[in-house]
Order: sequence, then C-alpha cells, then structure tokens
Amino acid sequence: MSATIPQQFTGYAAMDEAHGKKYEVESWSYTPQKWHEDLIDIKIDVSGVCGSCLHTMSNGWPRPTEYPAICGHEIIGTVVRAGSNTKHAVGDRVGVGAQAGSCLECDYCKQGLEQHCRKMQGTYQGIWEDGSVAQGGYADFTRVKGQLAVKIPENLENEPTAPLMCAGVTVYSPLKRFQAGPGKKVGVVGIGGLGHLALQIAKAMGAETYALSHSSSKIDDAEKLGVKRENFIVAKDAEATVKQWSNTFDIILITAPSENLPLDSLYFPLMRNMGAVILCALPETKLPPFFAHALVGKSLTLAGSLIGGTSELAELFDLAAKHDIKAWVETRPMSQATQTLQDMDAGKARYRYVLSNTKKD
Ligand code: ZN
Ligand code: ZN
Repeated sequence: MSATIPQQFTGYAAMDEAHGKKYEVESWSYTPQKWHEDLIDIKIDVSGVCGSCLHTMSNGWPRPTEYPAICGHEIIGTVVRAGSNTKHAVGDRVGVGAQAGSCLECDYCKQGLEQHCRKMQGTYQGIWEDGSVAQGGYADFTRVKGQLAVKIPENLENEPTAPLMCAGVTVYSPLKRFQAGPGKKVGVVGIGGLGHLALQIAKAMGAETYALSHSSSKIDDAEKLGVKRENFIVAKDAEATVKQWSNTFDIILITAPSENLPLDSLYFPLMRNMGAVILCALPETKLPPFFAHALVGKSLTLAGSLIGGTSELAELFDLAAKHDIKAWVETRPMSQATQTLQDMDAGKARYRYVLSNTKKD
C-alpha cells in the first residue's frame, strides 16, 4: 500500500521571508519525518486557509519562521498508511487541525486537549523527534501522529468542515469552557473566519447571539448566521455603544486581531458581572494598557483561549452534524495558493478559503 506514497511530499511553500511577506508560495518537495508506528500518512483533499498561515509566512509571530514553510492546518484527507500504534485504518477520512503531534501521555493529552501539551507539535513549524520541521496542508500528503487526527463523520462534507479544524474549534473551546448555553448572551466581535463560526456555534449551544462590528456592512450575513437584526451592534463609537448596551453580555468573544482593543472603554462596560471577555485571536502587537477597575469591579474574567484538542473537535463535529454548522467557504485549486493567500490578506474571504487537490483549474 505504501507504493503509492512518494518518498518526498510536495506542497506550496513560502521559500524565504521576502516571499513570505508577499504571501508568495512555490512548489517545493521535502522529506517527511522518519516513519514510526505512531504515525499516519494522509493524502490531502483540502486545507483551509487560516490567519495563522499569514502570520507565519510573513514572520509575524514572536518565534521566527523556519523557511521554506508550507502552511495550512485545516486539513481533511484520507489515511493511506496507518501505524500499528494508531486507531486508524487505511481509507479512513480524517481531519488534522493546528496540532499534528503531542506526548500522548500527559493529563492534557489523556483528555484530548493536546493544544496544552508541553510537547505539542504545530502542524506546520513544529519540530519532530527526528529534528525535521513539520510542514502543513497546502500539499499532496502529510505525516502526523495518528492520535491527533480525528475521524470525520460521514454526513459532513470536506469543504465546509475543514475550517472547523482550526477556526471552528478555536471558538468552540472557550464557548464550552465558559458555558455558553440557554439564558446566556454571547457577543462575537468580528465577523470573519472565526466569528462567522462562533455565531453559528454559540447559537447551536443555545445562547442568544449578538454580532459586534465596526460597520453595518455585514448585517445581512449576520442574520443568515442566526443573529437577530436588533442584535447587530455597530460598535464604532465606544461611548454610544456602552450607553445602549452596558451590562448585557455573559461572554464576549474577540475573534479579530485588532491592534487597539478597547477593553476598559468598551468591552468591560458591556459585560454583566462575572462574565468573561475572551481573546482567541493573536494581534502582532502588545495589548494597550487598560484600567482594571471594571475588570475587578464586576469580577470579570479576561481570558485567553488556544485552539482546541481532539476531544473538542469530536464534540464540535457532533454539534455541526446536528445543527448544520458549516463554514462559508470559497474552494479553489491548490495551485492557486499564492492568489488565495493574497486575497485572504486583503480581507476578501467571505469567510474562509479552502484549497483543494480535487478541484482543478
Ligand atoms: Zn489556524
Ligand atoms: Zn501531552
């Protein structure tokens, strides 16, 4: 069966920082990590394009990017080789999110919360046991730890499901942890790749959903995502917004990496006591300083949330199947990776691009 698996995998890589800053990728082949029985090889069908890919390509994170870099960590494909220590079989349709490896033994790993494992390996830019740099999903194949791959239920299609692997689970995880559900009001800041999924997921969990945006341009989209029109808040003028909506939310989920988060002037005043303001996007700059008065005075939680693990993905798939949660996607051939990354950077995604090996030019 391994006869059809090439010695080298081929994908679209940012070759150096100069090209990465312009989101230019080119075809590049690499030797995957050394095979062992905890691993699986996946023939990739689709990979979503995540904001993290742009940050990584452009060397925008604190940890410098290792080039060449193949990004993409919203992968769905078919298992073509399965290590004997994995629960997978050849032919399984599986997804891999932002983690492709972890220790498999710690408390977090045992709970399927591998994003918290100290040995968590990024699906791209992680360093494998043999020293090689992990490469992501804009490629023909990938080799990952079997335990980090999640089986995709039959009734979920590849394209609208791929973005659940990172964007979806990134918002599902904190919504679950802070108990979004019936009787709770959830405000989602930013209607984009993460936000459009957060609105669907919070509603499916039973919460009343609100969208906070800087303009009214996405009000029709928000309505299609389950937000009542009167729950669409144009939060451009902090003072006016606070006047109308103070003490409203149990949860505010910040999904857009804004460089000037108005925490004490806007989000804290909008919260009900004991609520949580959750950051699940990573700006490239430091947060602005803020007064702690409202945070302390209302016993608020200012929380961060990092992606999600395999147990959360399995729960999210159940929820998605039951409530028809789908990412809004535009699918393009993998060969159009450069154009797609540039369009993503230009903010043109409504709301996610998916690169596909099965869709041709
Ligand atoms: Zn991501
Ligand atoms: Zn672990």
